[in-house]
Amino acid sequence: DIRKRLFTRVLYAGMLISISAICVNLSTGFPLQTNIKWVILFLITLTFLLLNRKLPYSEKIPFILFLGIILFFMPYAFINSGGGKGDFLAYAFFTLISLGYITSRTYQRILFLALVAVFVCMHIVEYLYPELIPVYDYKSRFYDRLIQVPILFCISYMIIKSFTEAYNESNDRLYYYANYDMLTGLLNRWGFSELLAKGFDSVYRDGILLLIDIDNFKLINDHEGHKAGDEALKRFGEILKDYFSDGKTLLSRWGGDEFIVLFSGSEEKLNSLMEEVTRDFQDYISKIEPLANISLGSVYIKDCRSVDDLLVLADQFMYRHKNEKRKICERG
Ligand code: GH3
Ligand code: MG
Repeated sequence: DIRKRLFTRVLYAGMLISISAICVNLSTGFPLQTNIKWVILFLITLTFLLLNRKLPYSEKIPFILFLGIILFFMPYAFINSGGGKGDFLAYAFFTLISLGYITSRTYQRILFLALVAVFVCMHIVEYLYPELIPVYDYKSRFYDRLIQVPILFCISYMIIKSFTEAYNESNDRLYYYANYDMLTGLLNRWGFSELLAKGFDSVYRDGILLLIDIDNFKLINDHEGHKAGDEALKRFGEILKDYFSDGKTLLSRWGGDEFIVLFSGSEEKLNSLMEEVTRDFQDYISKIEPLANISLGSVYIKDCRSVDDLLVLADQFMYRHKNEKRKICERG
């Protein structure tokens, strides 16, 4: 789960920020008591890190942590670290990015509103009661900012990057599931239709669409089982890929035991390739189901006015071919 992974990273980031802040404070002469908040943050993040390992992940866990940080830790840290002149804005921004990626829906909205409210309230408090806010010397603040803010930027960048990578990866996966057939790895009906519709009047205009249906495929399922049927479909897909590997031909498992080849070459070339496909498939399938074969129906794309016409015509030709073979069998 990407959210759980990001949450773990944010917890490590919280610990890193605490340790580096303590180091910077000690080396730049901030009063010792300014470290109390970082020790608290370190202990909180460590506790949640251990809880996150033990408990099954739920969005409630980061929600509770963020809410506690926003409502209690941030106001305390704002005052303790010198008010609006400190690095509060950078911490608020880091919190915003983290909660935006890790939480969702109502949890996210509550946290976002709480963060804005705390930011506004604390600045009003600073304005109305400036005596509450300690003033630190310029040099300490300069070193603190020079180290802490770049660390926050780096961690924020890492979180955005991790999320973007996971998002792209899942997008690619979804695209594959939506457009490709899981069994054969060929384009599915949806993926093929999209490409054909796009190129119907342009790139595929001079092409040939070939519809293929396996004859007596049900017998393979009935006699040898569904798994053997799946294997036969897979094998047929592989044979098609072997012979049409030019990168220009579109191959699709149109559905069930129907396949489509969208070929951009001459009819002679297509016929000779299909002879080899048929021979290879027969070699394979004759041992499993002697009555299985393939029927073909091909149409020139430029002869059709629409994609629907093209598919209807290819289907008719394919059935004509199937029926002719049946008649020959019956006569024989
Ligand atoms: P015909 O000779 O007229 O083409 O008949 P057929 O037995 O080949 O059957 P038809 O083309 O009418 O129907 C295809 C069959 O393929 C129907 C279904 O049971 C089977 N089928 C469809 N998808 C799958 C699949 O993914 N795996 C398996 N094993 N069988 C499938
Ligand atoms: Mg069939």
